Amino acid sequence: MVVEYNDKGELTIGGTSLKTIAQSFGTPTIVYDETQIRTQMRRFHEAFQKSELNYNISYASKAFTCLQMVKLVEEEGLELDVVSEGELYTALAAGFDAQHIHFHGNNKTKREIQYALKSKVGYIVIDSLEEIDLINRYASEEVNVVLRLNPGVEAHTHEFIQTGQEDSKFGLSIKHGLAIEGVKKVKDAKRLNLKGVHFHVGSQIEGTEAMIETTKLVVQWLKENDIQIELINLGGGFSIKYVEGDVSFPIEDGIAEITEAIKTIAQEADYPIPEIGIEPGRSIVGEAGITLYEVGTIKDIPNVNKYVSIDGGMSDHIRTSLYDAKYEALLVNRNDPKDETVTLAGKLCESGDIIIKDAQLPSTVKRGDYLAILSTGAYHYSMASNYNQMQKPSVFFLKDGKAREVIKRQSLRQLIINDTK
Ligand SMILES: *Cc1c(COP(=O)(O)O)cnc(C)c1O
Repeated sequence: MVVEYNDKGELTIGGTSLKTIAQSFGTPTIVYDETQIRTQMRRFHEAFQKSELNYNISYASKAFTCLQMVKLVEEEGLELDVVSEGELYTALAAGFDAQHIHFHGNNKTKREIQYALKSKVGYIVIDSLEEIDLINRYASEEVNVVLRLNPGVEAHTHEFIQTGQEDSKFGLSIKHGLAIEGVKKVKDAKRLNLKGVHFHVGSQIEGTEAMIETTKLVVQWLKENDIQIELINLGGGFSIKYVEGDVSFPIEDGIAEITEAIKTIAQEADYPIPEIGIEPGRSIVGEAGITLYEVGTIKDIPNVNKYVSIDGGMSDHIRTSLYDAKYEALLVNRNDPKDETVTLAGKLCESGDIIIKDAQLPSTVKRGDYLAILSTGAYHYSMASNYNQMQKPSVFFLKDGKAREVIKRQSLRQLIINDTK
């Protein structure tokens, strides 16, 4: 996505002035470059097509979902992961084909299991031994299931740790025997068909080592236990660039490396290559989205710090307070040099409500200016809350110089719609 200043000194995306967007539609607002979202989806498709393996790409709804987003996913030929009644409802309301929906979650409620079954989702990802009984009990016909494994592997941005993640609420541990017990239980369950296995080793992973090593471990385990399946799903977690120094997962080279490695692993283990699934979320929408805010109070505490506050905060941007995540801010309405380090703060009643702790900004920034925070397309709107009765922001998709509203700003009325009088 090209974010650049035009000759009037206004920040633009694909030629559209973000100042105009902020002035016309108000702030805070989240703006996506629709072309960029589609490009990311197509890059994954093309990389897999080159491998000539059977594959499916499933977008993880939790990164950002709404009716128009689901429609994009459908138009680009991806499948869809959901983890709750609400995400499934959104997908179905957008007209998404249930056969291409996968239902995840470590504690699916009875209602959710029944809803998934009734909707005839493509498969349910089993996350516990108990769930096998529950699904079998509620199913009235054969249902495809995929077992989520805990391979005892954890991937961090720069490192890969084996036995790092045995203590986890997700999946069935291979090492501690839960996975094999799960396979036996599924085979004994009358209405369940074991379609495949799944793992997800982490988020914001820059390299391919963790996925490749985990696939190897899983294929060896399948072979040793003589388990035949149609699908291995490698999960998501492909990294994006938030700030200088971060690496966006190299989709073309990375998928080529992974698929080539899978061919070798299968050959060495003498195991037929099943369909390969992935579940990208962040890497599809993360870099394609930015948040626009208006600057309000500026507080300069001599020899201590300067706080620049904006008209949103942890209600629409929780990742800084939650994970100490890093972001870059750009002044939208003037192209002035970044010559100062300040703390960019939200307006909510928590000292921890910070957007960027050490933000590089022009010292000319003043009340009424607009700021853009880059790479806020994933886990921003979807994590938004009404803390302090803040209204959730509006969301726009930009394409061919036009902005189309895909989510309206929450109204004040909506804040009390469920309150009884
Ligand atoms: C969160 C999650 C994803 C998506 O992760 P990203 O980091 O957004 O790519 C995919 N699969 C599972 C099971 C997840 O929990």
